[in-house]
Amino acid sequence: MTASIRRLRVAPEPETTDSALLPERVAALTRRATAGNAASVQTVAPATGVKIADLPQSNTADIEDAFARARAAQREWAQRPVKERAAVFGRLHDLVLREQREILDILQTETGKARAHAFEEVVDVAINCRYYARTAASALESKSRAGALPLLTTAREVRHPKGVVVVISPWNYPLALSVSDALPALIAGNAVVSRPDNQTALTTLWAHELAEKAGLPKDIWQVVLGRGRTIGSELIARADFVDYTGSTATGRTIAEQAASRLVGCSLELGGKNPMLILDDADVDKAADAAIRACFSSAGQLCESMERLYVMDAVYDAFVERFVANVEGMKLGADLAYDSDMGSLTFPRQLESITDHVEDARRKGATVLAGGRARPDLGPYFYEPTVLTGVTAEMKAYREETFGPVVSIYRVYTEDEAIEQANDTRYGLNASIWTRNVRRGQRVAQRLRAGAVNINEGYAAAWGSVDAPSGGFGDSGLGRRHGAEGILKYTDVQTIAVQRLLPIAPLPGMSEETWAKTLSTALWTMRRLGLK
Ligand code: NAD
Repeated sequence: MTASIRRLRVAPEPETTDSALLPERVAALTRRATAGNAASVQTVAPATGVKIADLPQSNTADIEDAFARARAAQREWAQRPVKERAAVFGRLHDLVLREQREILDILQTETGKARAHAFEEVVDVAINCRYYARTAASALESKSRAGALPLLTTAREVRHPKGVVVVISPWNYPLALSVSDALPALIAGNAVVSRPDNQTALTTLWAHELAEKAGLPKDIWQVVLGRGRTIGSELIARADFVDYTGSTATGRTIAEQAASRLVGCSLELGGKNPMLILDDADVDKAADAAIRACFSSAGQLCESMERLYVMDAVYDAFVERFVANVEGMKLGADLAYDSDMGSLTFPRQLESITDHVEDARRKGATVLAGGRARPDLGPYFYEPTVLTGVTAEMKAYREETFGPVVSIYRVYTEDEAIEQANDTRYGLNASIWTRNVRRGQRVAQRLRAGAVNINEGYAAAWGSVDAPSGGFGDSGLGRRHGAEGILKYTDVQTIAVQRLLPIAPLPGMSEETWAKTLSTALWTMRRLGLK
């Protein structure tokens, strides 16, 4: 038999049409939101200060309308075979890659991030589409389970969609976090009501348009607009499940509201992520990779590294190369792949990051690189910043900075590195650098973090979408990615069938004899190794 060689098609070139955000295009996208006549909010491009859009805001009637449409559409959608629902996202995979140019422009315009960091979001959506389009059917299919009594009882586990899932997403990774969390919910047969952050609403609306092109039926995915504090409670009050990404403080409020209605939620929250550079690390590789690990999207990445623990033997070499790398970074947010880091997204980000650095400086920390705003580049640019001498009384020590600020600590033993890395209420992501992968894996298991990357910052674990992703401690509840990332959007039902004999005394048998018979049966089952 001759082996057949599958011919791989080369990925199509991204479209090269002019995709600048013209007013007509902005208007076409905003019309997709279920938002009537309520007051509008103006958004501004952070890198330039130029107006992007006047966004309509959803009021109570809009929200009711969005849920009514979503519920009606969900009944029909849930009847379709999983494979048919999943196929929409196979097509979305191709479309997002092909039409990436426009969304990269929109992402950069709305967030101020560098193009390379915007591209990470395109990749994220593509790999989640591919993964769930391929695996959803087997994750969701009904499964046979061991029955109460062998041969006499059979049991099946059956998955049902929850109904209408609310996805509340933040502004820092707006394409990845709104689409990649919505798509497994949709494939599982739910409707989704998304509430993107106003600042990055066009990104979600663009994806909404693309999903329709990929064949997603009208109404099954609704996008409402509004400030979280204004409409968040109204959304949770109507949701069958809530998926939230954002700060730990808001996550707690959302968990309380969901709990009071006894609906489930999954929460992807903050982090204060450590990178451990062990004494056998390839220092050059670690110092080069730390640039992306610390400064992707100007550090406005939940998985970003804010604490570097470097063992004494490699400390000087690491710091020298890392600081040189940081000083060589090019800042800018042109709509091209020509800068290493972009702008912050909001004035409040600039304020809180400046506050962390000034607080550290005032209390005796040393600024090895960066440490100042760059209004000459744009209103919210801030230099990538490296601190040493950060101590427990400084904000940057424990609080999430959520910006391009990293503190380096010298440690003398592996145990000390682990102990300090674990000295946090968060537990989202961690990174370990060592030439000995087995050592890395040993250390990884001692870290309290939902993801640990060995010889990588965050992309290895994040991109391994077959494995669950989420936080320990204050970093969250529930998981995205993997089977858990789709099963959370389902209610599970057990259907059991009893055959031939009842689970009860046979006619004429006393309860006492039945108890003895059942005890003997249980005893025997254990001896035979039956579950
Ligand atoms: P935030 O909690 O203030 O806001 C996040 C989003 O939640 C915003 O869009 C906001 O409008 C909305 N919101 C606020 N109050 C709400 C309410 N009561 N009900 C519903 N929605 C509400 O957080 P932020 O500071 O803007 O975002 C950054 C935080 O998000 C950081 O802590 C970061 O680590 C975290 N984050 C976590 C992940 C993850 O996957 N774990 C990913 C990205 C960001």
